[in-house]
Amino acid sequence: MIKGTVLIATDICKGCELCVAACPQHCLTLSKQINTKGYRFAELKNEECTGCVNCALVCPDAAITVYRQAKIKKAV
Ligand code: SF4
Ligand code: SF4
Repeated sequence: MIKGTVLIATDICKGCELCVAACPQHCLTLSKQINTKGYRFAELKNEECTGCVNCALVCPDAAITVYRQAKIKKAV
């Protein structure tokens, strides 16, 4: 399975939870902390991200950037 991770621009996030609902791996949650605008922001809660990009596509504020690990070729 491809490994991925996300970078969330916490000061842009307004805590709408669309990304939390859209993640098939249940990787995202809202932080207990608040950002400079007073919103709880999204954060990764586990290592299960596959880089599927669903969260970034649904975020109305483009606060999420997704990264995928490059596939490592096995030596034959
Ligand atoms: S890229 Fe996919 S698996 Fe990773 S946090 Fe976003 S929705 Fe979840
Ligand atoms: S969809 Fe975007 S604005 Fe909404 S909680 Fe997720 S990162 Fe924040």
